This record gives sequence, C-alpha cells and structure tokens, in this order.
Amino acid sequence: MTALTAARRRQDLDALATGAPIDLLVVGGGVTGTGAALDAASRGLRVVLVESHDWAFGTSRWSSKLVHGGLRYLASGRVGVAHESAVERGVLMTSTAPHLVRPLATVVPLLPNLPRHRAALVRAGFTAGDVLRVAAHTPRTLLPRARYVSAERTHELAPPVSRQNLRGGLVAWDGQLIDDARLVVALARTAAEQGATVLTRVRASEVTGDGALLTDALTGQSMRINARAVVSAAGVWAGEVDPSVRLRPSRGTHLVLDAAALGNPTASITVPVPGSISRFVFAMPEQLGRVYLGLTDEDAPGPIPDEPAAAEHEIDFLLATINQALARPLTRTDVLGTYSGLRPLVDAGDGSTADVSRKHVVSLGPDGVISIIGGKLTTYRRMAEDVVDKAIAVAGLDAEPCRTRTLPLVGAPSRPDSADTTGLPSSLVARHGGLAREVVESATVSDPLAPIAHGIDVTRAEIEYAVTHEGALGVADVLDRRTRIGLVHRDADAVRPAVEQIVAASLN
Ligand SMILES: Cc1cc2nc3c(=O)[nH]c(=O)nc-3n(C[C@H](O)[C@H](O)[C@H](O)COP(=O)(O)OP(=O)(O)OC[C@H]3O[C@@H](n4cnc5c(N)ncnc54)[C@H](O)[C@@H]3O)c2cc1C
Repeated sequence: MTALTAARRRQDLDALATGAPIDLLVVGGGVTGTGAALDAASRGLRVVLVESHDWAFGTSRWSSKLVHGGLRYLASGRVGVAHESAVERGVLMTSTAPHLVRPLATVVPLLPNLPRHRAALVRAGFTAGDVLRVAAHTPRTLLPRARYVSAERTHELAPPVSRQNLRGGLVAWDGQLIDDARLVVALARTAAEQGATVLTRVRASEVTGDGALLTDALTGQSMRINARAVVSAAGVWAGEVDPSVRLRPSRGTHLVLDAAALGNPTASITVPVPGSISRFVFAMPEQLGRVYLGLTDEDAPGPIPDEPAAAEHEIDFLLATINQALARPLTRTDVLGTYSGLRPLVDAGDGSTADVSRKHVVSLGPDGVISIIGGKLTTYRRMAEDVVDKAIAVAGLDAEPCRTRTLPLVGAPSRPDSADTTGLPSSLVARHGGLAREVVESATVSDPLAPIAHGIDVTRAEIEYAVTHEGALGVADVLDRRTRIGLVHRDADAVRPAVEQIVAASLN
C-alpha cells in the first residue's frame, strides 16, 4: 500500500532534481489533476503532479459532495452530458470507489409552495433520471426507482418538514460522497501507487508546453523541470497558469447545520427556489452529525481568493428558502459554519460568460500548455481520460489505452489489500473502506479507536494515519482536508490540542 509521507516527498523532490526524463507534468492537485495523474501513470507514462498547497485545496473540497446522474442537464436538453454523468456515477459506485459513495434519497415535499403543475414537472424529471440510470446500466438494487411516497413516509425521511397540508413527497436516488477531499486523497495515493510522483506544497510557475519552474513552498528552493507535455488542471486559477485562459468565477455557498436541529434526516430535503423552475435548495445529511444546506450561484469577479467566503445575503437566502418547507424555521443561531467554492465560467471577453460547469473543455494554449477547465467531480475520470488523450496526441507519447474505468482506488473492496472491517466503527469504514483495518493496525497512538474529542467520531488512529499514509504535512491538512472537522470552528478548537500532539509526533 502506497504511503504518502513528508519523507517520501523529500526523496521525490531530490530525485526530480537529478533531471530524470518526464512524459507529463500535471499542475493542480484537485480532483481533475489527481485524476489526470492517475490516468497517465496507469497508461505507463512517467508523470509528475504538483499542487501548490495540499490535495483538494481548491474547489474540490467545497462541492455539494454529490455524485450525480445528470438529471439537471436534461432540463437544458443536454442529453449527452447527462448520459456521461450517469455513466461516471455508475463507474464510481460499482467499480472504482464504491467505498466512498453511498446511495442518497432526495425527497421533494409536496407542500402548497409546490403547485401541482410544478410537482408534475419534478416527477417527470425524476422518471427521466431513472431512464438515464437504466441507460448507464446502474442496477436498481443500488439506486432504487424514483417514486411518490406518503406524507407519513416523507416525514420519516425528513422529520423537520411541516405536516400542514403535506400531500406526500417525491423521492429519487443519487450518489453521495462521504467527502470530496477524501476522493482526491484516494486518487493521489492511487496515482502514486501506479508510479506517478505526486507532490504537495510545490507551485508551478513560468509554465509552458515543455516544462515549468517548480518552487518548494517549504524550503523556497526552485528547480526547472522539462516534460514532453504539460497539463494545467488548476481549476479557477487556470488563467494564472496559462494567461490565454480567461475565467470569471461564480460562487456557490453551503451552510453547515447540526443534523439534530433537523431531526436527523436520512434524505436530502429539496425545496424549489421561488420563481425558478430549475433551481432548488437542498439540505443533505452528512458525516459528523451534520447537514449541509446549499446552494447559491453568485457572480464573483476580481482576484481569486485562496478560500472564498459566504456573503451575508447568501446565508439569508438559503435559510429563507429551506424554511418554506419546515415546521420550525431555522435561524442564524442554527448555522454552525459556512463554506463556499468557485465555479469556473469562461469569460468570452465581451461581457458574456460560458458555463463550463456542465461539460468540461480541453484547450491547447499558444505556449503549448493543455488546459482542462470546468466539468464536475462526478465526471473527473472521463475528463482525465480526455486530457491525457490530448497530451498523448499533441506530444506523440507512447502510451497504453486508458485503464481507469476498472481501476479501483485505494480502499475499494475489490482490491486484494482490502481487509475485513467487521467490528470497526462504521464512520471509520465510511471514510477508509477496505483500509480501515490498516488505519487501526498501523497506529502507534494510545487509544487508537477513541474519538479525537467528545462527540466527534474521528478516531485518534485516523489523525495519525493522515500523516503517516495520506500526505498530511500539518494540522490544517488534517482538520480541513483529511477530515472535515474544520468546517465547524467550534469543533476544530475542541480537537486542536490533541491533533497538534499526534501530528507533531507522527511527523517526527
Ligand atoms: C459550490 C460547488 C458545488 C459543487 N458541487 C458538485 C457536486 O455536488 N458534484 C459534482 O460532481 N461536482 C460539483 N461541483 C463541481 C466540482 O466541485 C468541480 O468541478 C471540481 O472540484 C473542480 O476540480 P479541479 O481539480 O478542476 O479544480 P480545483 O479543485 O480547484 O483544483 C485546482 C488546484 O490547482 C492548484 N493550483 C493552482 N495553481 C497552481 C500552480 N501554479 N501550481 C500548482 N498548483 C496550482 C490549486 O491549489 C488547486 O488545489 C461543484 C462546484 C462548486 C463550485
């Protein structure tokens, strides 16, 4: 099993400095860049992946964490995009990462704010979603058919929904990641296992089609490396890597709530945005006893921040919309935290923008850099295949055909190193899959199965494992990306002393 550690990172940087030949340099360690590195390495290419901060530092940790079947794209008539999404959802759920994705029910409560004609549209959309699932060969045993449920059943799935005039609910099923950042870490580790050199805290600058200047953020040292092809997977920062790419981001915000404040729902509660026929606000049950409530869509021009922040009016909008369906309205005091991510929109230069958040774009810049922009978490594998195909064609690389459709990520149950997880905490297994036993057995901390703090179900062993196997180089990597404790500042403060102690001991 490949372990990413600070020591391995240093050795890899030393090896790079010797000038060994490289086929492909990938810039950016979000889901797209780690996916591309895995794709290329598994085709036999010599690959280097650099990420300026940490795995999933950018948009890839701020998503809704849904692996979706493309239903929303059908509304705009984009059948091909919808089909691609449904196929990739099936690949993740049945083959490459079934341990990280679970089926999630979505319930649309039939309340007076959803008139019958709109409910009929939602129902038709859900039926179309079933057709997509069948066309993608994803079994009904995994994602059940959409259906109408009674008011009583709606209430079981979504306890906070108002009972007054509730006519029942419409239920459909999709995929939900335990966490987006954990998918990225699994991709980085699997890429390393396939032979890629994967480096965090390394920024690429002066990027051209045949190499870049790499700077180690920990030492300040730089080196120039040459590669036969260069892919930029820098997300909303793509324009900084290749200035011919012009982006104008849009911000999407979620609120973090205590699941208990919503009666511990087991389904995503989905409520229409007044005045729109295609927009919904949804409250999804998540790990660590939380609910994430999203999603906004706000123009966010100007310099791109490292960590985008929610605006006050976005918080008001999300609360007001979900409150239409609740018996007890949520207030500001129910909000434990917020998070926001940026979608890349291509700036056409004439004031208009093109939304590439549905279908990704692969482009070859004037300096020979191949950029991949847009797309979504769900389709990262297909995006990686497309951009690596392009690099192979542009640079004339000698590579095997793409293998990632059936290549299980670390932790997947089909792998030979996947161990029996009987008797282990379900939250540990949900985050680590078939590696959960390794997490515990490799631990040297005292009380490895004890929670890191009262009421937070991340074990002490997981904190150590983040450093000894998952490439965490500091406390923030552990709190904000290997685990998501950091989404609630109060929780982060509660665990920080214990995490600092384990991280310091493990780094030594
Ligand atoms: C609010 C929101 C909700 C979403 N929800 C979903 C969802 O539920 N399901 C879904 O399928 N998709 C969803 N998406 C889409 C999905 O999150 C994105 O498409 C995806 O995460 C983009 O990944 P990326 O790797 O392209 O970019 P990023 O994750 O931003 O990665 C780019 C990386 O490049 C690094 N970088 C930048 N410049 C350099 C440099 N010079 N040198 C080295 N590294 C560099 C950055 O640090 C960053 O880590 C959502 C998007 C948003 C904004």
